Amino acid sequence: MDPHTHFLFPFTLSTLLVKLNLLSWELALLAGIVGVLIDLDHYAEQIAHAKTNRFSLKATWNNAVRFHRFNQRSFIHEGSGAMIITLALFILAFFSWQIALALALGYYSHLLLDYARFKHEKEFCWKLGVFYMKESELELILDALLVISLVVLFLI
Ligand SMILES: [Zn+2]
Repeated sequence: MDPHTHFLFPFTLSTLLVKLNLLSWELALLAGIVGVLIDLDHYAEQIAHAKTNRFSLKATWNNAVRFHRFNQRSFIHEGSGAMIITLALFILAFFSWQIALALALGYYSHLLLDYARFKHEKEFCWKLGVFYMKESELELILDALLVISLVVLFLI
């Protein structure tokens, strides 16, 4: 999934929790930002594995979206990393359950979106300058539902 969806999903869930007085707006924003930042491991993997353009953000993006020359997902996208992060979140929850909840929303929503892909999804591909772009029909629908949900939550 694309960064905007990785932001919108945990931010929308967190906004619901803000409306229920369980989280602050700052922590809702943190959840959304964490949802995006999980994919920074793609850049670390690019630096570690690419044969050319090792420090290029453009090459990192285009490899993730189009070329898939190597797996850019590090251990934090997989079971062992999820177990370590879950343990760290449990420990953090003893000090601040709200910060732990915001981080958990960002992290687990990211994994859910990354792995909840359907075969034969219709995808739209285009090029924006030097960047290849791709978004599935399902992601477009999800984005629209999330934006509508956010508008409703802001209005109530
Ligand atoms: Zn990811």
